[in-house]
Amino acid sequence: MDTPVAITLNEEKLLDLFSSFKDGIVTIDENYIIDSVNPNALKLLRMNESLVKGKRLPSLFPSNQLNLENFLQNVNSSLHYSDYRNYFPEHQRWFQFRAYPFNKEFSVFIKDVSGQIQNEQILSLEREVHLMQATQATLTHMLDHLLRGLEKIFPSYHAGLLELSKSGKLLNDLSSPSLPSKYKEQLVDIPIGPNAASCGTASFIKKPVFVSDIENDPLWKFCNQTALEAGFRSCWSFPVMDSKGEVMGSLGIYLSEKKLPSADEIKKLERFSYLISVLLEHQRIAQSIQLSDEIYKTVLRATNDAIWDYDMETKVMQWGYSLKKLFGHDSENTPYTLTDWIDDIHPDDRVRATSTFNTVINSDTLHYWEDEYRFKKADGDYAYVYDRGMIIRDENGKGTRMIGAMQDISERKKSEFILKELNDTLARRAAELEASNTELEKFAYIASHDLKEPLRMISSFLQLFESKYNHSIDAKGKEYIRFAVDGAERMKELINDLLDYSKLLKNITEPEWFNPSTELEEVSRMFNNEINLSNAKISFSHLPEIYANRNQFLQLLQNLIGNAIKYKSDQDPQIEISCKSTKSHWEFTVSDNGIGIDKEYHQKIFDMFQRLHSRSKYSGTGIGLAICRKITELHGGSIHVESAQGKGSRFVFTIRKLNS
Ligand code: ADP
Repeated sequence: MDTPVAITLNEEKLLDLFSSFKDGIVTIDENYIIDSVNPNALKLLRMNESLVKGKRLPSLFPSNQLNLENFLQNVNSSLHYSDYRNYFPEHQRWFQFRAYPFNKEFSVFIKDVSGQIQNEQILSLEREVHLMQATQATLTHMLDHLLRGLEKIFPSYHAGLLELSKSGKLLNDLSSPSLPSKYKEQLVDIPIGPNAASCGTASFIKKPVFVSDIENDPLWKFCNQTALEAGFRSCWSFPVMDSKGEVMGSLGIYLSEKKLPSADEIKKLERFSYLISVLLEHQRIAQSIQLSDEIYKTVLRATNDAIWDYDMETKVMQWGYSLKKLFGHDSENTPYTLTDWIDDIHPDDRVRATSTFNTVINSDTLHYWEDEYRFKKADGDYAYVYDRGMIIRDENGKGTRMIGAMQDISERKKSEFILKELNDTLARRAAELEASNTELEKFAYIASHDLKEPLRMISSFLQLFESKYNHSIDAKGKEYIRFAVDGAERMKELINDLLDYSKLLKNITEPEWFNPSTELEEVSRMFNNEINLSNAKISFSHLPEIYANRNQFLQLLQNLIGNAIKYKSDQDPQIEISCKSTKSHWEFTVSDNGIGIDKEYHQKIFDMFQRLHSRSKYSGTGIGLAICRKITELHGGSIHVESAQGKGSRFVFTIRKLNS
């Protein structure tokens, strides 16, 4: 257009050139009346020649008529070419007029500069939004500004931005500054899908969707009513995607005419959708940073550990609030440095703690440091602390920071000391007890063993005395001798029982697996006579294999069954033995229908030499049940009786299972 036309060209060639110019060219006379017009000018003005020729040029542009008059006036008076550029709503275009004065006439070149202007406007709008972002404007503020700017650049557009919910299934209005409020109200929880109007579909298929006829397009079939009521006829939607290609929302452009976008419009709108995606993603990242920052701060406040953060490059150490709370060092007002920390480690622990710390800090492979040491509090007292830190490395593996947590374990240490002291005392006491028990057992064994000999002497000499001096002893004397022999005999029994009891703790044979029925049969054989005499019945069934000391188990049954026969009632003795298995023990029951035991004596009968009857009524020494209790104890179990006088007795004892 700026190329000067050679004046040597003939008229025909000039006409050709005139017609073939890409810009519109109009020649006008001094009154601005149009003489000639080239085809491109007609195309730009969307008019035919007859309507244009003979008209005053400014009158063809009612929206800018006065401005054009002034512009031509200026060119006329300056006699120099000049430009005028403005938006012409009647054409929905930006036109540039360049007028060349020529012998009181003008050649006017008209050019559609809409595309160029729009690009300039988009660029400046982008700059404005970035500036807003830099000054930390809110997202809605920025988006509203951007969409308003878009509508200014493309005055026939109404823009609306919908955001996809976290579930990735529903769209909601995020910014739509010029959409009618009635339409806006509908933009709530719009499901996305393959047939969900323009925006819902674009978000679903992740591609732009252009609908030029809302009324009849199948995509809008179920929701075109409100759009039509709002005056919209076409809608173009662009998905807004993040850097990973995930949809964040959809930009919708509504028009009141039925129209598809031109390639240029698509390009420009895609630029908008890209800018929106940058804003949204930036906001999301900022939010997640803020969230993790808040979490970090909350953890710092909530934790009972003093959190520290050591920058390995600047050697600066920062502390969380708990340093003050736990140890009284106020790092918020005066920095509590690495040197302060080292100085406050107890001198006896300092070398060790700092050297393990430095080993980790200076290593390329270690990530974790932990130590326990004494740490001086602000009041001068020492606390026991458990401290540990984790190294954060950069992408090259170089350590940049170490984040750690110091825990006050003074209470735990105190309890540990107390517990240790308690354990030591207990162990000492147990050892003393064991020693005295062993001594006692030894004594009981030796005493009973050694007592037997002089006892035998007493009774045999008494018997010798009786036979030798039989004639000279009167009846009273003989009775006294019998009492003495009886006493000696009874003492022998007691000593034998005591010996049996103390033997339990000596010569213990190894436990083994066996079935208790074998031992029961053995006991039945032992008591064959008594069973026959009393017509006793001993019954048992389904006894499990057990792991125990066989001899002791036999002794246990022997005592319980012997007692059940001995302490029979008027009826024939019925003795039942059963066993049930618990998680950790075998539980045996020996029940009889004998005379029973009053509740008052249920504990006492298990003590040594405790009897409830005179020897004249029932023989015995009162050691049988004490032996039973000892045996069950040696097997990790216990024994008790359930009984009432005249109601029979149930002796229940337990044997611990192997590995329990
Ligand atoms: P002993 O039978 O030699 O007296 P034990 O230690 O075996 O000694 O029993 C202690 C006391 O418990 C007995 O004297 C008796 O009074 C009572 N006793 C034991 N078993 C039974 C039983 N099955 N029925 C009733 N009383 C019993």
